[in-house]
Amino acid sequence: MKAIRRFTVRTVLPDDLAPLGRLAANLRWSWHAATRDLFAAVDPRLWAAVDRDPIRLLGEVSGERLAVLAADPDFRARLDAATADLDSYLSEASWYQGLGEDPARPEPPRAVAYFSAEYGLTATLPQYSGGLGILAGDHLKSASDLGVPLIGVGLLYRHGYFSQTLSPEGWQLEDYPEIDPHSLPMSRLRDSDGAQVRIALELPDDRTLTAHVWVVRVGRVPLLLLDAYHEDNDLELRGVTDRLYGGGNEHRLRQELLLGVGGIRAVRAYCAVSGHPAPEVCHMNEGHAGFLGLERVREYVAAGELGFDQAVEATRAGTVFTTHTPVPAGIDRFPRDLVRRHFSGDTAIDGVPVERIMALGEEDYPDGDPGVFNMAVMGMRLAQRVNGVSRLHGQVSREMFRGLWPGFDAAEVPITSVTNGVHARTWIADEAQELAGRLVADSEEFLVPDGWRKVTGASERELWEMRRTLRGRLVDDARDRLRASWRHRGASDAELGWIDDVLDPDILTIGFARRVPSYKRLTLMLHDRARLRAMLRHPRHPIQIVIAGKAHPADEGGKRLIQEIIRFTDEADVRHRIVFLPDYDMGLAASLVQGCDVWLNNPLRPLEACGTSGMKSALNGGLNLSVRDGWWDEWFDGSNGWSIPTANGVADPDRRDALESAALYDLFEEQVMPLFYDHDDSGLPKRWLEMVKHTLVSLGPKVLATRMVRDYVTELYQGAADSSRRLTADGPEGVRELAAWKQRVVRSWPGVHIEHVEVVGVEEPPQVGGELKVRATLVLGDLDPADVCVEIALGRVDTAQRLSDPVFARLDPDDAVRDGPLVRYTGSMPLDRAGTCGYTLRVLPSHPMLSNPAEMGLVVVPEPPESMAEGIVLR
Ligand SMILES: *Cc1c(COP(=O)(O)O)cnc(C)c1O
Repeated sequence: MKAIRRFTVRTVLPDDLAPLGRLAANLRWSWHAATRDLFAAVDPRLWAAVDRDPIRLLGEVSGERLAVLAADPDFRARLDAATADLDSYLSEASWYQGLGEDPARPEPPRAVAYFSAEYGLTATLPQYSGGLGILAGDHLKSASDLGVPLIGVGLLYRHGYFSQTLSPEGWQLEDYPEIDPHSLPMSRLRDSDGAQVRIALELPDDRTLTAHVWVVRVGRVPLLLLDAYHEDNDLELRGVTDRLYGGGNEHRLRQELLLGVGGIRAVRAYCAVSGHPAPEVCHMNEGHAGFLGLERVREYVAAGELGFDQAVEATRAGTVFTTHTPVPAGIDRFPRDLVRRHFSGDTAIDGVPVERIMALGEEDYPDGDPGVFNMAVMGMRLAQRVNGVSRLHGQVSREMFRGLWPGFDAAEVPITSVTNGVHARTWIADEAQELAGRLVADSEEFLVPDGWRKVTGASERELWEMRRTLRGRLVDDARDRLRASWRHRGASDAELGWIDDVLDPDILTIGFARRVPSYKRLTLMLHDRARLRAMLRHPRHPIQIVIAGKAHPADEGGKRLIQEIIRFTDEADVRHRIVFLPDYDMGLAASLVQGCDVWLNNPLRPLEACGTSGMKSALNGGLNLSVRDGWWDEWFDGSNGWSIPTANGVADPDRRDALESAALYDLFEEQVMPLFYDHDDSGLPKRWLEMVKHTLVSLGPKVLATRMVRDYVTELYQGAADSSRRLTADGPEGVRELAAWKQRVVRSWPGVHIEHVEVVGVEEPPQVGGELKVRATLVLGDLDPADVCVEIALGRVDTAQRLSDPVFARLDPDDAVRDGPLVRYTGSMPLDRAGTCGYTLRVLPSHPMLSNPAEMGLVVVPEPPESMAEGIVLR
């Protein structure tokens, strides 16, 4: 009987215990230890057997047990307390409400819609593949904690992401268990008449894709998941939301249309039934969500007052785009014909010409591919505000996308960064939370180093014992998982006695867990096996290593790397010190980041956009040992962990691996291992603990997702809401004016040029403290001085004869001296830097609704050879 279809019959709880159902229906339990403890108390053995899943627990607990609990005043008191706590969590004012009360601030956005193709919220909801999804989950949870009125939007994948097992030969096997939404903490969105909300999307060839909307409660944040498994769809269309990142181009395109276009429609339906304010800002978490911008354009056009260009301006003002990959190959692209087919013929949208849509995703820059429709490029054209996810990644992204802003140096490309963070209550072990909670009364204090200094006021013995507890728990968990894996690989219990002695709760424990794209270099540690073996088998200072990771199902190379690791971990002389644990998911991740002493990360710099697992480790008192990439490039301070020196500029990858792995072994042998085992008379590794404390104080406040979400609110959402309001304050007029102005500027721009620039006043020789006076004559063609901004740039001249770190000052038009098409500008700039300096001039479009001078990608500089007036030397 294999082809059984499962369904879930929910238990009817006795009235007195009905609040248990409410607690299970809100994912806040997943980051609230007291609620989880209450579920455990319902039936401790069953709780473990159902993998700590409250819905399954309540589905399987016996009627007799429920009757006992209903009659137990103690249990009912705890239940009342937990429910009251949830109610106050959901309703009390938090940080965001404080923003709203501050008269010095503009009104915060009334609501924000956040779109992501994946969400990692709990291990019981396998709707994520890796970092992107975990980040989205942590974003929602932190938004909930902070009281940000956010609505999440995603897809419900019936088979989620795969679960990983191993063949006897150590080859990755994938399994896609089907989920039953009725057994998950979610409910169908219904309209005010109680009917299920149905989202419909027109597809080519007269087909309609229909979707259900499920609502997951993430604290106070609703997450809307669209589900194509709908009775109105034929079998093929039901499969649209079968798997995360599965299928070919058309399949993925349909998924992304459902996410973006269907997602906006689901938000509208949700706001209509719930009374939730309509979002003023939409956030695209990576290009998969890009079609939301098109749907908003369509909405504006359909409302009758705006044309296409105007609708694009209105959409841009209220949209934020976040890019997550520093590798061009990581960007989502579709064949252009496929996209065209979905927006033309019988699926053409009135007033939204297909050629205009196609232009939004066009790679019309040098090295661009004319055959693809690029989702990130479209996202950036439909979002006025764009960011990367760490400072270094912001820099890499400005380089990578500079073709969209031709004429500007990479440094001026309008892509900022907000460094990722992690949701503390999800990732910090209960014991550590309990310890921190005893020492720090107000959770606000965790946003500043002083709060963490209080945590490090715990006695060293207590800290060390806590670390041992967490390490010990990881060891137990690893043995269980390893045993299960070996059984699956075909071993019998009689052969597995050795697993009882795998790993040791007192040995320095290194963790390495991540997806397995080649840039993460899973096997770098194997580069010199003899040296690794010696470290694992060191007589006094041994290390043990716990490894996990999934390769993308289509990535044979990644699977080979996994197999290579497994073959090593299977060797009899090291298998007690190095293990590979299959099926890396949030549960395993928590166990690892809590139990490991050192978190290892050795990507090829700068290919890791941010990385977050090391942040989770740091919050649990682990130390990072990592290549200076992503977040670690920004926050490594020389003593809060270790940085692996990189062999930048070494072109031969093998040679680079050899150099970097040797540096890695050196660090372990010379620093990490001796430090960990250097115990004083009281048996404590004082210097190690110093480093742990310094890690908590220096990284604790920074790596929090609450810090990240605050940054998004104040730096991006607020700006987007302000732009959007200013643009539409007087009805459609503002949008029309901006769109018309942009068209005029783009049309007239070829007529703008700089006739002449000269220095009209500087002391000889020029000195610091002096002033540089400049006069320029410009031709503005059809434009007015009010349409442009003329700037002088002053900076040092680098070896490539370019200005480095220029500073800018505006020149003003001299209205008295207008000579036909010529406009005279003058201005000055203080000379405040010594050395060989140069200056140049540039003309940019200027309008109060531009968020950045480079936004339109238009700039005029002097024609060579005047492009850089002769260098002046300052003393
Ligand atoms: C945190 C986490 C990630 C992301 O970690 P990286 O540091 O970006 O590799 C991936 N998968 C899971 C299950 C996680 O918990």
